[in-house]
Amino acid sequence: MHVYSDPASERHVNHLAGVEAPERFPAALAGVEGAERGGASVRWCRCEPAEEEALAAVHDPAYLDHLREISAAGGGYLSLDTAVGENSWEAASLASGAACSAVESALAGETAFAIARPPGHHAGRDYGMGFCLTNHAAVAAGHALSKGLGQVAILDWDVHHGNGTQHIFYRNKRVLYLSSHQSPFYPGTGRADEVGEGEGRGFTANVPLPAGSGEDVYAAVFAGVFGPVLREFGPELILVSAGFDAHAEDLLGGMALGSGAFGRFAAMITHLCGEVGAPPPAFVLEGGYNLGALTESVEATIRGVEEEPPNWEHTGGVKPVERSREALAPFWRSLR
Ligand SMILES: [Zn+2]
Repeated sequence: MHVYSDPASERHVNHLAGVEAPERFPAALAGVEGAERGGASVRWCRCEPAEEEALAAVHDPAYLDHLREISAAGGGYLSLDTAVGENSWEAASLASGAACSAVESALAGETAFAIARPPGHHAGRDYGMGFCLTNHAAVAAGHALSKGLGQVAILDWDVHHGNGTQHIFYRNKRVLYLSSHQSPFYPGTGRADEVGEGEGRGFTANVPLPAGSGEDVYAAVFAGVFGPVLREFGPELILVSAGFDAHAEDLLGGMALGSGAFGRFAAMITHLCGEVGAPPPAFVLEGGYNLGALTESVEATIRGVEEEPPNWEHTGGVKPVERSREALAPFWRSLR
C-alpha cells in the first residue's frame, strides 16, 4: 500500500465547518500507522500539487484562478459551509495531486491511498461547496484517462452523495460513477433515477439509502448493484471516494456501519479489480468526522485490501437496492 500525504493538509482551516477540522488529518494517518503495526505493508510517499493540466481537465480554469486568488488574499468563502484560508489552495492542490499519485501507483500494480483534506467530491466543475474546493477523485480519474486509459470507475461510499463528481462526469461514458449515500440528506442529489445524460446515460449509478442503514444493506448494494455493474463495465481502474462518515459514531452521518465494514468493502473492491483484470484500487479520503472512528476505519480499509472478501449475494430483499436496479436495468444486462 502506497500512502500519499502532505503536512499541508493540516494547514487548511475552514472556520465555517468545525467538524472538517485539521485534526482529521493526523487522525487518518494514525489509522495507517495502526495498520502498519498490525502487519500491513505500507510505503509512505510525499506528493506534489496536481498539475495545472490535470486540474483544468475537470475544473473551469476561471474557478481555479478564483480559488487561488482568494487563498492568496488571505481567505474568504465559497458557500455557507465552505471557507477558504491562506493555506487552502496549497492543501487542495496537494490533495488532488495525492490522488493523481495514487493513480500512478495503482497503474504500476500497487494499491494506494491518498490521505488529505479538505475532501473533494462535492466540488463541481466551477464551484466549491460542502467543505470541498477541488475534486480529487475527479481530477485523478481525468488524469487516468489522460494516461491513455479507456474507462475508469469511481465508487463513492461516503455517506453524502458526491454531487460534484456526478455532475463533472454526467454526460461521460468513460467514467462510471457509483454512489451509495444517505437520503434524504445533504446535498439533496443522487436519486436512483439520476442515471446520466446523453452519451453518459447509464454511467451514473446511485443507490440512495435510508438513515440507519447498516452493513446488511450495504452488502445488498455491493451484491445487487456495484458488483454486477462494475463487472459488466470492466473498468481499467477503480478509484474509491473513501469517506468514513457512514460510520455509526460519525458526527454528521446517520448510518450504522462499524469500522470493520470498510475493511470488507475494501476487500470486495480489491477482489473485483482482480476479477475484471484491473490494477489494484486507488483510495481517496473524503469525509469522516468522528476522529476515533476515522482512525479505526482507515486502518480497517488498509487491512481489508489484504483480506478475503465476504460472500455477499444478491437476494432481492432490500427495497432501495431493487429500485436502483430497476432504474439501471435498461443499461446493464446483468441487472435484468
Ligand atoms: Zn461525507
